[in-house]
Amino acid sequence: MYILNVAIDVPLYKLFSYNHVSKLAIGTRVKVHFATKEVVGFVLGYEQDNALHNLKPILEVYPEILDSEVLQLIRFCSQYYHYPIGQTVMQAVPKYYRQTEIINYKFKQPRNVIVGENIVNVVILNKEQQYIVNNISQHFNEFYPSLLYGITGSGKTEVYMELIYNCLLNDQQALVMVPEINLTPQLLERFINRFPTVNIKIMTSQVTNRERLKAYVEAEAGEANIIIGTRLSIFTPFKNLGLIIVDEEHDLSFKQNDNLRYHARDLAVFRARIANCPLVLGSATPSIETLYNYQQGKYHYYKLSNRANTNAVLPTIKIVDTNIYSDKAGLTSVALEMLNECLKNNELSLVFINRRGYAPIVCCNDCGYVVTCANCSVNMVYHSVTRDLKCHHCGVSNDIPKYCPQCNSTNLSAVGLGTQKIEELLKKQLPHARVYRIDQDTLVSKKSWIELYKKINNHEIDILIGTQILAKGHDFANLTLVICLAIDNGLYSHDFRSSEYLYAQLTQVSGRAGRSDKKGTVLLQTSNPNHPIYHYLFNNDFNGFVNEILAKRYVLQLPPYTYYAMLRVSGKSMNKVMDCLYQVAAIHVNDKDIVVYPPLPAIIQRLKNKERGQLLITSINRDKLHRYIDLIQFQLQHKIKPKQVSWLIDVDPFEL
Ligand SMILES: [Zn+2]
Ligand SMILES: [Zn+2]
Repeated sequence: MYILNVAIDVPLYKLFSYNHVSKLAIGTRVKVHFATKEVVGFVLGYEQDNALHNLKPILEVYPEILDSEVLQLIRFCSQYYHYPIGQTVMQAVPKYYRQTEIINYKFKQPRNVIVGENIVNVVILNKEQQYIVNNISQHFNEFYPSLLYGITGSGKTEVYMELIYNCLLNDQQALVMVPEINLTPQLLERFINRFPTVNIKIMTSQVTNRERLKAYVEAEAGEANIIIGTRLSIFTPFKNLGLIIVDEEHDLSFKQNDNLRYHARDLAVFRARIANCPLVLGSATPSIETLYNYQQGKYHYYKLSNRANTNAVLPTIKIVDTNIYSDKAGLTSVALEMLNECLKNNELSLVFINRRGYAPIVCCNDCGYVVTCANCSVNMVYHSVTRDLKCHHCGVSNDIPKYCPQCNSTNLSAVGLGTQKIEELLKKQLPHARVYRIDQDTLVSKKSWIELYKKINNHEIDILIGTQILAKGHDFANLTLVICLAIDNGLYSHDFRSSEYLYAQLTQVSGRAGRSDKKGTVLLQTSNPNHPIYHYLFNNDFNGFVNEILAKRYVLQLPPYTYYAMLRVSGKSMNKVMDCLYQVAAIHVNDKDIVVYPPLPAIIQRLKNKERGQLLITSINRDKLHRYIDLIQFQLQHKIKPKQVSWLIDVDPFEL
């Protein structure tokens, strides 16, 4: 008899033992009894043992076996992020794998793919692009990580596609990871046009379970040639993975912010190492972590310093001081004049404000009461179109109160700026302009993107108003003016990464301007025009900006010079949450390299009706930090055993 060690979808840091007459391949999908249910598990180990044990048997053996490379990644992920192995496996596989049913999936007849066949829209690469493609292509079949730093509009996607082409010629498969927001129909169309005869599959949280299964199985069989996906696509099995590309590697969406809090870019480095293939981390504003790794000699470095369209140059940046040019209504007179000028020239402009809704705050003018969400400790946002208040965290919507709940006054008003308010304002100020608003509230489907592009190409829009949904990846030829509003919030955040995010965001949105023959202008409206970040943006000096940030982080011993982990606890009662955190904070530390900070309520203390608290632990030594987390986990499970709260560890946290 054999004892099989099976990973099951439970929040426990162990495997479960079952009896079976024979050993099974590591990774085999099985059905077992657990508690009172029949559940799916995956065999992760076995031992031969003829002694009699009172173990339950394996109930059913399914044909699926997890790919060994993916299994290696899952084990690493579970260990590094201190997440239960069974739950890690279940997050990594398609939903059908988690069900106690036979997966019936039939392949279509394999197609004979000829990569070079029918390629249309082949772009002639410029010298810089060709140099990079030639260099990286010499390193197929070896671990070769590189940072591709390319200014906006420099044609990173062309470099990716040429590398993918070479990868396919080698009879290998390519994985392209992009932020969810970037996976637009336009991007997909470019890939399909470039590779019309190869099997391209999409893997995002948006595709149906069936589609995800299809992509997963076809990639594993070597049938899918290119997988384009968001962070979860890092767990895709490949028959012969030859290249990984992480586009916009600095993007926050690569980090999962619930359950298994993995960072897909960091996992991509591990994956490329075990797959022995090149990895390309592309960005116009690489993350500080990636730049630091490059400085440490971990990555190769390539740069695209010119725009791909030889007539296009980077836009001119203008900074307007809102203290001088009154912006009571949200737009300075300078901004309005420039919009008007653009309108006269029949050119497209974009007004960027990263806040959907009409106004972020509804407050009482008599007592100062601000309407907050009943489930979360955040303000409700007024939406003028639906005439209600919405919580942007839990999605709940309420009617606008007629009276102030605190003083009964009827003198309530909406304060601050949102996309809807700017839309109203522009329609009033520039009545002839055709204004079009784009945010999560207007963009519901793929169809609305196609419609938008059609309208823009037909010159049916003069001014676009948009949130960050518009900031990335889009290429509107006639767009010459970008105006950025309400950007200063990023300067006053508690988060030490906020200026890095702001720089990236403004670079991205500025990059939409002047991508073809006409030079673009970007107007930044700020009440703090002397802040160094605007100086660097004005001079297009990303290196200067990064050096200043790294110097600051070194002095303050912040990441990447030190390692962070956060214990997050949540529950119905804040007392129980804090009590749990204090018990953990009291665990004796016998090492000066480990720093445990005092427990704190989370910045958004209540979210979706749960109270939340956190404990930050840092160390200059990564191994010591992980060992200390192991100790905390052990104590939580076996000694503290907190009641009515849940906890998890967030390694390399982004939410502080
Ligand atoms: Zn009041
Ligand atoms: Zn809420």
